[in-house]
Amino acid sequence: MAQPIDREIRLAFWKVHILHHAELAPVYGLWLLDELAGHGHKISPGTLYPVLARMEANGWLRGTSTGAGKARREFVLTAIGRDVLVALRHDIAELYREVVKQGPGAP
Ligand SMILES: [Zn+2]
Repeated sequence: MAQPIDREIRLAFWKVHILHHAELAPVYGLWLLDELAGHGHKISPGTLYPVLARMEANGWLRGTSTGAGKARREFVLTAIGRDVLVALRHDIAELYREVVKQGPGAP
């Protein structure tokens, strides 16, 4: 079980990851749970779905319900979300340079 501080920071990483995939193709909850688990992040639907709802409320994702009978909500990246992702890519590259490439454990 992750510590609260760890979870607090990883919540932001998960959002970046979601924005990234939503840019490539429409995403939905179960697929994202699998994708994040594949990266070693086993998060619960109870964590993911409120995150998706907040991202949609922020205007970064646009959700549409698809599939008759089965309520599957697909999310696509909005223009605002794309701007956020572009800015975050810059921040991530900068952070990566300093924290990883130039950090104490750097080769
Ligand atoms: Zn991924």
